Amino acid sequence: MGHDFLNQKASQKIEGNHPLYHFKRKVWNTHIDRYPAAIFECKSEEDVIDAVCYAKKHGLKITVRGGGFHPAGKSVMDDAVLIDLSNMNAIQVDEVSKIATVEAGARTFEVDAITQEYGLAIPLGMNSNIGVSGLALGGGLGYLRGKYGLTSDHIVGVHLVTGDGQLIYVNRIERPELFWAIRGAGANYGVVTKFEFKLVPVGQLILGLDVVYDYSDFKQIMEKAEAYRQKAIDDISFNIILTKSNTGFKSVRVIGMYIGELNLQTETEIIQPLLELAPSVTDYSEMMPYVDMQKKFDCFIQDGFAIEGISLFFNELHPDVIEILMDEVDRSEFPVSYHFVEIHGKMNRISKFETAFHIRDASYLLVVEAEVGSHPDLTEQWIYQLYEKLLPYSYNQVSYLNSSTIDEGVIQNSYRCIHGRLVALKKEYDSENLFCSENKLID
Ligand SMILES: Cc1cc2nc3c(=O)[nH]c(=O)nc-3n(C[C@H](O)[C@H](O)[C@H](O)COP(=O)(O)OP(=O)(O)OC[C@H]3O[C@@H](n4cnc5c(N)ncnc54)[C@H](O)[C@@H]3O)c2cc1C
Repeated sequence: MGHDFLNQKASQKIEGNHPLYHFKRKVWNTHIDRYPAAIFECKSEEDVIDAVCYAKKHGLKITVRGGGFHPAGKSVMDDAVLIDLSNMNAIQVDEVSKIATVEAGARTFEVDAITQEYGLAIPLGMNSNIGVSGLALGGGLGYLRGKYGLTSDHIVGVHLVTGDGQLIYVNRIERPELFWAIRGAGANYGVVTKFEFKLVPVGQLILGLDVVYDYSDFKQIMEKAEAYRQKAIDDISFNIILTKSNTGFKSVRVIGMYIGELNLQTETEIIQPLLELAPSVTDYSEMMPYVDMQKKFDCFIQDGFAIEGISLFFNELHPDVIEILMDEVDRSEFPVSYHFVEIHGKMNRISKFETAFHIRDASYLLVVEAEVGSHPDLTEQWIYQLYEKLLPYSYNQVSYLNSSTIDEGVIQNSYRCIHGRLVALKKEYDSENLFCSENKLID
């Protein structure tokens, strides 16, 4: 029998017996091994509505895949419908209003490439493969956070398919309470099919900072970096990354972006101190296109890893925290990385009541990732113990929900002060709790 092209549906439904099923159920974290009931590869808003209605009709939960990069694999769940948006990635820039319309399957590199043609950008994350959707709905910390804030701070409207299959528009005027929730807890209320983002000016050439230091200087680097952070101007943002490789070799790298004016004074007063936190081993800092800096570390992580991870925000990095981290990195029998994402500037000047991403006065986000080798239980034990040790020093026990999480308690801690508002909205827009991969707002 010939192929029925006329009746071919735009979207493709992939179930367990489909040759591509095992390929399509994979996410970035290769330690995640889940079996969705069906995967809908959608090409339009109508396809998304069909997929939601299918799930509802069959009593199935729903997860959505923007890019599939959530380290805890939140876009795939056993026995649920997986709505894959990777074919919906159109991007348009309105130069006059400075608004970008971005379909929800777009990746960071796709958006950067187009917005930079106009000398503009949406502040996105620091890896160019990740999905814009998950990033924007959960916050989104990138190199522009000091100057412009989070990815979610730039959402001005979304198109959303709710649990009952309705396509609605959400912005500050149409549905202000849902608009608040979308910007930080956005994965709980439906499928965002399209975003409208306000664009910011970013020149095509920026200064990419990248200095490698010796691990023996780690304590000094952290102390000096904190002194620097306290006075840092908005034009610069940086991360400190401690890695332990599979050979046990440890090193510290400071990576950042400066988008301000370069002259003798700014070079001496703003750039140089960050390049001299200790004697450097190598300094790769250079002027480069913004899009290249966004891609700089893709090669290390693009093919996925098997990882376990945690994250916590901190107000101050107490010396005990540094001691704990150093002891634990020595103790680990597998590759480990600590990412300290420093926080200052615009990201912290936005009111904590403005968006559901409410962490507006922390100084660091620490993301810890450990590679899962042949003894996953060892990694799990190590990461859990580390989390317990760090918790008393953390900022209200709050984790970054776009990062790995070890249990539901982590999620409850992180939403604690806004839980009531989120639950009230959940009852209004997803009373059957179809979208429950992100957290357990209601049972
Ligand atoms: C290598 C790597 C680098 C990273 N770098 C950064 C960084 O620099 N800054 C940063 O802040 N974070 C970073 N992250 C974390 C990143 O923010 C999250 O992984 C984010 O969820 C990725 O978006 P995604 O679309 O790929 O997520 P997915 O895994 O596809 O989805 C994540 C969650 O969002 C939901 N979701 C996705 N799309 C939609 C939608 N359209 N509508 C409704 N719900 C949706 C899913 O159901 C799931 O619950 C990084 C992660 C990795 C693995």
